[in-house]
Formats: sequence, C-alpha cells, structure tokens
Amino acid sequence: MGLLGLKVALGDGLRHFILLEEYMDPKIEVLANALQEMGEEVLSRAPLIYEGKAKRVRKCPNNSQGAYVLMEFKDSLTAFDAVKRDERAGKGRLNCAISSRLWQELNADYEATAPIAFIAQVSPTHQLMHRVDIISLEIIVRNEAHGSLCKRFGIEPGTPIPRPLIEVGLKNDALHDPFFSHLAIPVEIMGLLTSDEMHTILNLTEEVNDGLRRIYLGHGIKLLDFKLEFGRLRYGDIAVADEITGDTCRLVDAQTGEKLDKDLFRFDTGDVMTGYVGLAQRLGLDPEAILQGRWC
Ligand code: 5GP
Repeated sequence: MGLLGLKVALGDGLRHFILLEEYMDPKIEVLANALQEMGEEVLSRAPLIYEGKAKRVRKCPNNSQGAYVLMEFKDSLTAFDAVKRDERAGKGRLNCAISSRLWQELNADYEATAPIAFIAQVSPTHQLMHRVDIISLEIIVRNEAHGSLCKRFGIEPGTPIPRPLIEVGLKNDALHDPFFSHLAIPVEIMGLLTSDEMHTILNLTEEVNDGLRRIYLGHGIKLLDFKLEFGRLRYGDIAVADEITGDTCRLVDAQTGEKLDKDLFRFDTGDVMTGYVGLAQRLGLDPEAILQGRWC
C-alpha cells in the first residue's frame, strides 16, 4: 500500500487527512452533506454498533460498504473507571464541537501529517468518521506532571517534564487500564499489535502532541497531558481515533491557570460545564449556540 503523504482538500472546508490512496473517496462530501440534512434526531436512530461511557458508535446511513461510522457524543460524565457518574445536559454537544474543531485544526496544521479517523461534524452531537477497529491501548502523553503520575510516584503536581513522557496502558476498565512495564508485552505476550504498529503509534503520538500543544497554545491554553486511542482502518493502516476534548485532556488557561477539563468533575473542584464552555470559547466556538444545537 503506497503512502501518498497527501492532505486532501475536498470542496470548501471539508478537509481531511487521507494518507493512503485506498481511503480517498471523492463522494465523501456528498455523504457528509446528506447526513447533515438528515439532522440529529434521525442520526440518533441509526443502528447502534457500540455504546461506550461517553459515546455511541452507529452505522452510517447511506454507506452500504460500511467504511464509515457515526460517532455520537453523550451527555454522560464518568470518572475512576465509571465508579463516579453524572449527566450534564449539553455536554455531548460541547464535546462534539470541541473535538471537531481540534481535529480540523490538526488537519490544517501542515507540520502534522497523522492520519485521523475524523472526517466531519454532521450534527450537534454526531461526527462522520472512518470506521476503525480500536486497538485496546490507551496512550497517555504528559507534558507536565499531574494526575496519576503524581499519585504513583509522589511527584509534586505541576513539576515540569523536560521531554514529553509517553505511557502505554491497556484499555480495560475492569483492570484499571494498567500501564505496561515494557512495550514488548502488548506486542509479544498479548499480541495486540505488531512492533511496527507500536512504532507507528509512538511516532504519531509525538506528532499529535506537538501539533496539539501548538494549537492549544495558540488559543491561550496549556496542554498538560492527554489520552489518545488508535485504530486500524479498513486496509489495516493505523489512524488516530476517538476524541480530543476536556474529557481526555488536562488543560489550563495559559495565563490564569483556570482549569478547563474533567478534573473539575473528578475531584469536585468546580463546575465542569463552566470549564467546557470556557474551553469552547477559547477555541473560538460559540458555546451558547452549540448548546442550542446551532453548531455550524
Ligand atoms: P491520569 O493517568 O493522570 O489519570 O490521566 C492522564 C490523562 O489521560 C488525563 O488528561 C486524562 O483525562 C486522560 N485519561 C487517562 N485515562 C483516561 C480514560 O480512561 N478516559 C479518558 N477519557 N481520559 C483518560
């Protein structure tokens, strides 16, 4: 399979990374427009493929080959492997818009060439994505010491980390997403991926971290740490999957230190919706319109 290394501009604005010729679809814009016209309610009735804690994956209408799926953002909030749960009206809409904006900015960043599963936002709570088979790993990137790193090692929160620290864990709530002590374990013992795929994932992770740090900082936000997930596209190539939101990133205002992420909910240190509204505002979005379902 030939790597083209291209970024493809499709029509006005609908633009996504497609590194491989095999994944190019000139009709993708037609599909995205048709989905937009169907609207949130109709898309929310598409057959369910998978339901997670914060999202549902649905079959994509008008896509008989199954190359695409819909990702639907829920209003639920969970923490500590879903032991703590809550529902906040509009959280799904905010996160859908935030994640879409960040993927779009990453797409537009010509230094970043990571293939991503995201294609376009098609309703207040739905994204059109390339279908991927998720690899059961959670990749954590830390630019500053916080959260479980501090807890595990007794490090003072806020301690600088000279070079981004990448941790690889198993995606498994029942086992509390344990970290691997050696990268050979997922490859050689668990057979989750090949060592080439592991290399690809680590390289893409660094690239996404560089891109995201730059993008966030451009909006006055500091990216302290975040989680990435990866999947295999239809012909086996690795792509960045899932979401990038305040649910998956630790974020503060670069000037004031105001917190903008799910720690507000995890540790009851403030109103998480206020944090997510603040995050959306800083990204140049209109949170009031988004919460009313006006997302374009
Ligand atoms: P920590 O290991 O410090 O709890 O988390 C590090 C970063 O990864 C945080 O930004 C956190 O939001 C994210 N993260 C870690 N595990 C999960 C998870 O299971 N779900 C989500 N949404 N984010 C996670």
